[in-house]
Parts: sequence; structure tokens; C-alpha cells
Amino acid sequence: MKRIDTEKIGSLKQLLKNNRKISIIPHINPDGDAIGSSLALAQYLTKLNKSVKVIVPNDYPDYLHWIPGQEKVVVFFKQKYTAEELLRNADLIFYVDFNDEHRCGEIAKITSQLSVPKVLIDHHPNPGDFASVVISDTSACATAELVYEVIDALGDNELIDLPIAESLFAAILTDTGSFSYNSSQPRTFEIVGDLLKRGIDKDRIYSDTFDKYSGNRMKLLGYALSEKMVHLPEYRTAFISLTKEELERYHFVPGDTEGFVNNPLAINDVVFTALFMEKDGRIKISFRSKGKFATNLFSGHHFNGGGHANASGGESHLTMEETLKKFEALLPDYKEELLGSM
Ligand code: 5GP
Ligand code: MN
Repeated sequence: MKRIDTEKIGSLKQLLKNNRKISIIPHINPDGDAIGSSLALAQYLTKLNKSVKVIVPNDYPDYLHWIPGQEKVVVFFKQKYTAEELLRNADLIFYVDFNDEHRCGEIAKITSQLSVPKVLIDHHPNPGDFASVVISDTSACATAELVYEVIDALGDNELIDLPIAESLFAAILTDTGSFSYNSSQPRTFEIVGDLLKRGIDKDRIYSDTFDKYSGNRMKLLGYALSEKMVHLPEYRTAFISLTKEELERYHFVPGDTEGFVNNPLAINDVVFTALFMEKDGRIKISFRSKGKFATNLFSGHHFNGGGHANASGGESHLTMEETLKKFEALLPDYKEELLGSM
């Protein structure tokens, strides 16, 4: 099955023929799909004799550091001068795993001024108009699935070696919550089957990715669930809030709260969860849902955010207390939707 438009593959082929210096840019606060997809693409393009760097907006958690190809990463916030030089010298740019130019943070201020061709590979709804070639498909469980399809459609399937296969699998594994959601298309498993044929060690990748808690992180999870989770059965909703002081108490490092928002979804009657975290002078919010409730619309309308229907994010510039009040006050308006969600 070919899900990538032949014309777009033709344009991409032409771009790859004519250009050699490539920058790949994932979204800010990169997750497993952003890093896995970017590094898989980077390793593939290196095999085509391209000079490739992955310009990551900011640092990412330790559990993503085992993914092959890390030597290609430049962290924009840490190496602004090098990153900007690379971006200005690039003759081709790939945007990976986001649908709105602002999602790559300060990098967008530079790249939006550059007149080089840009290619977007993404699976979020409503891709913006900021790339010359847009490869976007919301039916893909992860952007990595589309990276696989692109390599395949370019006729280079045999170039997918073990490190590329591991990077793609890491991305698919994390973006589907270990195949617990957003992964009911047979194509996903055909691709995973193909990656297994390249020799990936599925169990080791799972363990390298998920069994990476520090003692403090595990205690923070325990505290978050037992002391800070608010369960509102009348709205089939549960949420957790963590202040800066609480995070510091558990020696928080970025990535420590990754996945916390999913835990309350395991409560039998809960269909909507949220995690509110005090971070960099604002409240960063993660939303998750089961079934039909569209968290990206909720987030877009009330918390200046977006994402997928079942997994999205947003932010608030109110205090934590005011933010939680605002959130709780919105729930009655969504009661019917929440109760009828599954
Ligand atoms: P997370 O909760 O893990 O930070 O993000 C979940 C999903 O929502 C990801 O697909 C991410 O790209 C998207 N997302 C997170 N925060 C924002 C935001 O502030 N704006 C938009 N548009 N999407 C977001
Ligand atoms: Mn993704």
C-alpha cells in the first residue's frame, strides 16, 4: 500500500537530488516520536551522502538518549550560534512531527526568513502552510510511520538498517503508548513486522525507554497519584497538579512527569485527564482522553494549545489555583460530551 502522494515523492526526489546540506527540526519539548523520526530520517539521509544535522529546539529527557544517531543532534538552546549557522547554511529543511511553525519555538524566527525549500512530515490535524512539500496524514500512528513510508516510496526500503529501524520503532512505541492507543491500523503492524525483520530487539527497546525511572521520579509519581490527583466521577475526569515547589521537593528533571497524565485514564470511569505543571513561569498542561472527547479542541478553545484529539497540550498564564478553578468551571459545559464519550 502506498499512502504518500506520488507527486510529492517526485518533488522530494528532486529536492534530494539538488540539495546536500540538510537540517531536520522536530518540535519543542521533543518526545519519542519527534526524536525517533528525526534521527531515523537523519540516518537515512546520511546514507544518501547528505550532510545532516538535527536541530532540536531544547533538550530532551534521558530515556530518549539511547536512540541511535545522537551525534547528529544540536540543541538550539545550548548551541544557538552553531545551530543558527547550520540553519542559515542549509539548502533543505525538514520539519518533523508538528503542524504549526511556532511549535519549533525560536527556531521558527530564523527558518521563516529562509527561502530554502522546506518539507513537513507530520501526523497532526490541520497542518499549517509553512512548508513547500507537506506530507501529512492523521491516520499515521506516529510521524515515524510516515518517515518509513517516505523512505519506502523513494525506493530505498533496503537502506533501512538496524539503527534506523530502532529509531523508527522507538517513535512508534512511544507515540502509541506501547500500542495501547492510536494503533489499530493493520499497516502499523506491517511496518513493525518489517522493522522486526531488520533485527530490532523489541523487549530491550521497551526496557531502555520505559524502565528508566530514578527513585525520585517513582516517588513523585506516587505522590502525584495519592496526594494530588482529583477524581471527578460526575465528569468522568481526573486531573493532577504539581507546583514548582513540589517538583523541586522530588528533585525534578525534565522528562520525570512524562506519562503521568496517562495514569488516571486507567480508572474505570475516567475518559478525560489533565496534568498541570508549574514550569518556566507558566502552567504547562497535558490533556489525554479515551474515546470521542476531543482534547485538542478543548485545549485550543481554552488553553491556547492543540495536538491530537486524544492527546494534546496547552498552557495557562494564570496562577495554578486560578488555572485549576478555570478548568473545573469549564467541565459542566462539557458534561454531556464527557458522559457520552465512550
Ligand atoms: P504532551 O502532553 O505530551 O506535551 O503533548 C501531547 C501532544 O500535544 C503532542 O502531540 C504535542 O505535539 C501536542 N502539544 C503539546 N503541547 C502543545 C501546545 O502547546 N500546542 C499545540 N498546538 N500542541 C501541543
Ligand atoms: Mn507524533
